[in-house]
Amino acid sequence: MVATSARRSLDEAVPGLGDRVAAYRAGYLREERRELERALLHGELLGLASTNALELGVDLIGLDAVVICGYPGTRASLWQQAGRAGRSGQEALAVLVARDDPLDTYLVHHPEAVFGAPVEATVLDPANAYVLGPQLACAAAEAPLTAADLELFGDGAKEAVAALVEAGALRQRPTGWYWRHRERPEVDLRGDGGAPVCVVEAATGRLLGTVDGGSAHFLLHPGAVYLHQGASYVVDSLDLDDGCALVHPEEPEWSTHARDVTSLSVVSVRSYLDAGPVGLFLGEVDVTSQVVSYQRRRIATGEVIDTRPLDLPARELRTVAVWFTLSPESLIDAGVAPADVPGALHAAEHAAIGLLPLVATCDRWDIGGLSTAVHPDTEAPTVFVYDGHPGGAGFAERAYGMAASWLGATRDAIAECGCETGCPSCVQSPKCGNGNNPLSKPDAIRVLDVVLANLPQ
Ligand SMILES: [Zn+2]
Ligand SMILES: [Zn+2]
Repeated sequence: MVATSARRSLDEAVPGLGDRVAAYRAGYLREERRELERALLHGELLGLASTNALELGVDLIGLDAVVICGYPGTRASLWQQAGRAGRSGQEALAVLVARDDPLDTYLVHHPEAVFGAPVEATVLDPANAYVLGPQLACAAAEAPLTAADLELFGDGAKEAVAALVEAGALRQRPTGWYWRHRERPEVDLRGDGGAPVCVVEAATGRLLGTVDGGSAHFLLHPGAVYLHQGASYVVDSLDLDDGCALVHPEEPEWSTHARDVTSLSVVSVRSYLDAGPVGLFLGEVDVTSQVVSYQRRRIATGEVIDTRPLDLPARELRTVAVWFTLSPESLIDAGVAPADVPGALHAAEHAAIGLLPLVATCDRWDIGGLSTAVHPDTEAPTVFVYDGHPGGAGFAERAYGMAASWLGATRDAIAECGCETGCPSCVQSPKCGNGNNPLSKPDAIRVLDVVLANLPQ
């Protein structure tokens, strides 16, 4: 959409100039990406609207300016993206345009959080079985694993190796563990989104690109509008077993926005902090989510035309979450009426998800949340924030360890936002499954004040 509107504006100023701007993302075909990189490097293209796919690993230097649309989530990404501009010995320009997002709001009010801070420590959980197993398989494929090697892989390596032997991936011999297959292990370096789904033009069989499995339910459901290089397509069918979506060219006057519903149950508690009326927990949870409908919204005005049901399978995720509970009495004492508790917790949840990247190297799209006035597993008003990666990538642990500063920044971001009743810069979320309803901004501040008054600093 950025590329399309840039082209249109350029063509209005200088007819033909619009052709020298293109779009770029990881899901494009490899040849297409190489061609775009080449064209940009040689000046045939003057500008590229890109996702973070251009951040790393692409040989692209010497741009004059970079305009970053929204804080990328981490200082490491911010400097990577800004660093794309600059020829040797010359000045370059990088501009960050803050978007409607609680974290962007916070950074606009606290620039020292960008300029005064080092690049964040990477968060990862090397003991995550979903990470460790494939790592050990790759290591064994390079050279047989010895007992001494296992020490290097830390806690859980012995169990992970035993599981790989059990699964037939490794064979144990007196000299170590050997990879049993001729082919190398298949590991998705991008993460765990599931197998990518191909986007195919039905009439011609042309492969337009791919979308990661996790996003396919949202972006490629039947009826979804899919954009490719500014060209618009509508999805006819999505076959999840074959990993393929069939589309046809069509330029409707609306965009589509999928909605999901989520439920969560606590599997186990790893650690907790009893802080009087407030409880803080870290543990394993099962999250079930299902994309159930989509809205059609008019492109020009954003007006909702209708909401249509979808029939897609539910997806399960075993992961790690951080959650806090408050006693109902403490909420009443703080001036939150019982009827306003759901909106207060929901607003606090959205902002807390938005601010988590401040303490953990993650993107708000890597994180999910759920809030409820009474959760069956905690029997109290509760806000859950969970890691979107199977087994957890370490984000929830970091949030748990830095809860006071994380939730303090969340409270400040809400309080400092200039709006009256809540907006996308504070408590509204672009990925809310409930259409940002109910939400209460003033009550979210009261909730967080109760939590912060009781948590140790
Ligand atoms: Zn606001
Ligand atoms: Zn929500």
